[in-house]
Amino acid sequence: MVPRSPLPPNPPAAAAKSSRRHCRHRLLPAPPYVTPSVTRQHGASIGCPALYGGRGALPVLEWQGRAARLWAALDPALRERLAAASLHDAVRLGCELLRTEEEEEAALVQLCLQTPTDKNPEASSWYREQGNREFKRGRYQAALRLYSKAASHQLPGSPEVSVCFANRSAALLHLGHFEACLEDIARAERHGYPDRLLPKVLLRKAECLLCLERLQDAQDILRVLESKIALDGVMTAHLTRLKKLSQLKVKLGEKERCPEPALEAHGGIQGEPEIWEENSSISGASSSLSLSFDAERGRHLVASQDIVPGQSLVKEEAFVSVLCPGESLPLQDGDTAWDTRATNADLYCHRCLRQLLASVPCQGCSYAKYCSQGCADMAWQQYHRTECSLGALLLTLGVFCHLALRTVLLAGFAEVSRLVAWSHHGDKNLRSPEARCKPLSEAAAAGAGSRGIPGCGSNGRYQSSYQALFHLLPHTEQHSPEHKFLCTLSVVAICKQLQAAGLEAAALNQESPQQRSKPKACGKTSDELSPELKTVAEAMLRHVLQLQCNAQAITVMQELGPGDGAVVDKKPVRLATAFFPVLSLLNHSCRPNTSVSFSGTAATVRASQPISSGQEVLHCYGPHWCRMRVADRQQLLSQYFFECHCRACLEELESGVKSVVSIRNSFCCPKCQAQMQGEDDTLCCSNEACATSASRDHLSGRLQDLQQQIKKALDLLRVGKADQAIKMLLKCQMDAGTFLSPEHLLMGEMEDHLAQVYATLGKWQEAARHLKKSIEIVEMHHGPSSVETGHELFKLAQILFNGFAVSEALSTIQRAEGILSVHFGPQSAQIQELQEMKACLSQLPRNILQRT
Ligand SMILES: [Zn+2]
Ligand SMILES: [Zn+2]
Ligand SMILES: [Zn+2]
Ligand SMILES: [Zn+2]
Repeated sequence: MVPRSPLPPNPPAAAAKSSRRHCRHRLLPAPPYVTPSVTRQHGASIGCPALYGGRGALPVLEWQGRAARLWAALDPALRERLAAASLHDAVRLGCELLRTEEEEEAALVQLCLQTPTDKNPEASSWYREQGNREFKRGRYQAALRLYSKAASHQLPGSPEVSVCFANRSAALLHLGHFEACLEDIARAERHGYPDRLLPKVLLRKAECLLCLERLQDAQDILRVLESKIALDGVMTAHLTRLKKLSQLKVKLGEKERCPEPALEAHGGIQGEPEIWEENSSISGASSSLSLSFDAERGRHLVASQDIVPGQSLVKEEAFVSVLCPGESLPLQDGDTAWDTRATNADLYCHRCLRQLLASVPCQGCSYAKYCSQGCADMAWQQYHRTECSLGALLLTLGVFCHLALRTVLLAGFAEVSRLVAWSHHGDKNLRSPEARCKPLSEAAAAGAGSRGIPGCGSNGRYQSSYQALFHLLPHTEQHSPEHKFLCTLSVVAICKQLQAAGLEAAALNQESPQQRSKPKACGKTSDELSPELKTVAEAMLRHVLQLQCNAQAITVMQELGPGDGAVVDKKPVRLATAFFPVLSLLNHSCRPNTSVSFSGTAATVRASQPISSGQEVLHCYGPHWCRMRVADRQQLLSQYFFECHCRACLEELESGVKSVVSIRNSFCCPKCQAQMQGEDDTLCCSNEACATSASRDHLSGRLQDLQQQIKKALDLLRVGKADQAIKMLLKCQMDAGTFLSPEHLLMGEMEDHLAQVYATLGKWQEAARHLKKSIEIVEMHHGPSSVETGHELFKLAQILFNGFAVSEALSTIQRAEGILSVHFGPQSAQIQELQEMKACLSQLPRNILQRT
């Protein structure tokens, strides 16, 4: 099995894309634009916390507050019953409660109004106008996003939506996305584009076809335009121009059939296919692993042979995932009534998580957007026909509830009710004290697969199935009663809504095929949930509770800034939350021996260091030893019912080894620059002869001031005042030197910012000098083979590339490649870009090479 990579674009689009890529690494003086902030993420944790739900995982605060007040006002006897209730009883009690508390339901309806997901034609016209404005200013990327928003708010088949697609096709043409442009034109035609506007769009289509060298098709359209359609003066001129262009192209084509442009130069770029042999008893795992089980560690994966760094260990497609609504990207202009900012929801396909170019909106809501009609149809059929009208409710109740619902929809009601029924038999066991350790106890396992390891199928094979997912521990007894109460109320509210909206049959997969396309609200507003929906609610409650410990964040490196700068910076973004039953077999360590990366909804775990046969394979759930002190790590993990006994924690706790984090981020003596020591409010110089002391608050205050100043310097850079930004940053550096240790992360950050400013000015040598200092500090904090160091080297390679420092660029590319391919694999986008740079450098004319 070869790791899944984004779909290869069609050849012409690829050519367009690679030409854009080349100008990114262009060997030309720096253009005068502001480089995207190279440095925002300097040394910041690249690995997003895997374990935590992240923003938007839980219901909105107002609903949490209401649930807490309701809980506090409950009769103490009922509270006790709820606290001790099984999942089954909790749902039953929750249903009764919500039936009597109509006020709560009304409040929830009100809260949903804050996140409308209905289509709103008024919003659409507004977005379209904003799009037109951006288009006129030549900001086609912004226009593209706004037209997509406009399209998502229009009803399918309306002339308005066809105009949105037609406008978007114009932006796509300007951006060089010819295939996508043609698709949008076809979409506009399908949705009833007005005849009187057709000539304009046909001209665009002809132009697009010419760009794609589809000369015959282009000429056919030009002929139609000429003969049948009345054009105004401007368009006639345009038509004449295109006709000349097409004739010219035909002549050229006759003279020489030119070969495909330079793609052969990229011969080595695809990378070596990885060697991958799948495990016979764990699907998605490498044959060099084996599944073990013991009381202390529960289920875990062990190396059954020696493993080398970079080797793939697990390749798993998420059983289910839900896109996180995400934070908005910063806006350049002021906000307005409707939000023009792009969020995760606008940038990634809601089903496959691929980056969106020209999104296909859901037929029913304005929220769900897809990369293609295929994804839209698939999502509709699998789960979205049930979820669509519940959009606002699901956004209000958070990603965990949404993921729980989607899990049961994907599993199908038959499987859900089978396992829920099974869990009732095993219920006593599930709640026994032995079951408290992370994996299921053997007692609970008795009801599962044949070999005694929970979650295995009857053939003894462990795979990414609903059965395996169902066996992830819900920790029913360890969640606080208030939290369980909040989750119960939330899932019951969703199931009641399913019933009220007439979606019960869809949710239970009991509808006839004809009903599938349009859910119809049934008049039945019975207060009582049907027994089937109670089963669904019980399974959902289980999944929400499981998510606290088993939610896996899917992260991607998102490009900062407009993406056309000479130096590209990326920051990790949490894209979605998912269940990965096989990945969940890995236990946590604060100093892991693996690294996880994602492509779409697929995860790949690779060894980040040599692992010898017999060693446990470990992955970090979030609190990494390089980023957090042991006390903070332990506190964080305790929220997830963990007590970490990893080597890093034991060393720091028992042998009193000081955390690398605290050593490196320490203050230094204002007088003699030695390290300041002490755990209390007053810090003392570690140099006995000096004996200077200072208050911790005072030093922390100075640190905060410094951070403020750095921010101001970056603001200056953003408005094009690079010289002033440099002055300010140099002053900050001087100041920092008097009280921060030379290895302090902030010291590195300032170097990185300076590198960014110099890169903006095209002073590549200066930029490289500062970036190298930054890299030294990142290496100290995260290690020379860490992802963080890899990303810094990537930036350095781009700077050296732009500065003609050919041989140094080549060696930096090689180092970056070595590190990044261990973490992301030889076929990742990062590696491909590095190889493109390498190919470009090796093609340089001799005279340029000799200059360096
Ligand atoms: Zn998709
Ligand atoms: Zn929808
Ligand atoms: Zn630990
Ligand atoms: Zn001193």
